[in-house]
Amino acid sequence: MKPAEFQYHKPATVADAVRLLHELGDGAKVIAGGQSLLPIMNLRLAEPSHLVDITGIPELRRSEAVGSAGHYGAATTHMMVEDGLVPDVTGGLLAHAAGGIGYRTIRTRGTLGGSLAHADSSAEWPTVMSAVDAVVTAASVRGTRRIPVRKLLFGFFTTALEPDELIISVEVPAFSSDVRWALHKTARKPGEFAESMAVVLRRPAGSELWLGAARDTPVRLGTTETAVHTRPAADIPLAELVEAVAADTHCEGHTLQLHAVTVQRALRAAEREETHA
Ligand SMILES: Cc1cc2nc3c(=O)[nH]c(=O)nc-3n(C[C@H](O)[C@H](O)[C@H](O)COP(=O)(O)OP(=O)(O)OC[C@H]3O[C@@H](n4cnc5c(N)ncnc54)[C@H](O)[C@@H]3O)c2cc1C
Repeated sequence: MKPAEFQYHKPATVADAVRLLHELGDGAKVIAGGQSLLPIMNLRLAEPSHLVDITGIPELRRSEAVGSAGHYGAATTHMMVEDGLVPDVTGGLLAHAAGGIGYRTIRTRGTLGGSLAHADSSAEWPTVMSAVDAVVTAASVRGTRRIPVRKLLFGFFTTALEPDELIISVEVPAFSSDVRWALHKTARKPGEFAESMAVVLRRPAGSELWLGAARDTPVRLGTTETAVHTRPAADIPLAELVEAVAADTHCEGHTLQLHAVTVQRALRAAEREETHA
């Protein structure tokens, strides 16, 4: 199918983009990589009358590490992160996550800001950016505001953004040298969205665990973190993980088993990282 008719705008500055979004109102949509929006438009599940293309705004492609954080322009593509064209303040977690998103063609166009604004809990960036406690900056004609990703994501395809707000950057706190990370994605085949995705951040004081694709937003596995604490992964029986993940997610049956195994594999991978450090 083809999308319904729309008018195309390509502003060169953030100020022009937010002015357009404000003036054009509810009928306008931001387009970045188009990797989520265009399929939806082709199916006529969305019929915006105006598209505001943000890929011609140089500021949104700029990234830098300043002090104890990495600042990533919203139009940074998954490929730029995967290929190390931007600094990775997490010691490789961001590049690893980016490399697992869809196929290479999708990664050359899809963007960090687009993925967060789309808010699909089985996508990489919502779970990873929740785990690392990233903060987005959103701009509108009213000015800018900072929103932690953990508060940005309201539910499936739903965020705290106003219709005329534009994510302009994502700030990621740098990992200290004692953090070990792992991300395990369970998908039917490479290039597909996750059926389960666990991120482990292991520190000497204990592990922080996040799970994607389990509920409509990424879930922090508090009960599982307490059960795991600093224990070696090999000492934690799968049955114990199943029980803890059930308490955290309220999942059942096959789905629960899938998530528990994904968490177990992520814990083992984090431990391997620790051994190699
Ligand atoms: C076949 C296929 C497989 C895929 N597999 C995966 C996968 O395994 N993992 C994964 O994470 N993703 C996957 N994706 C999605 C892909 O990563 C998209 O690139 C991403 O979800 C959206 O980014 P985008 O830049 O293309 O956004 P767009 O499609 O341009 O926009 C998506 C939404 O975000 C809004 N938006 C975009 N940028 C901004 C902004 N800066 N501020 C405010 N709103 C904005 C748009 O208005 C729209 O509502 C897949 C996509 C396809 C087609």
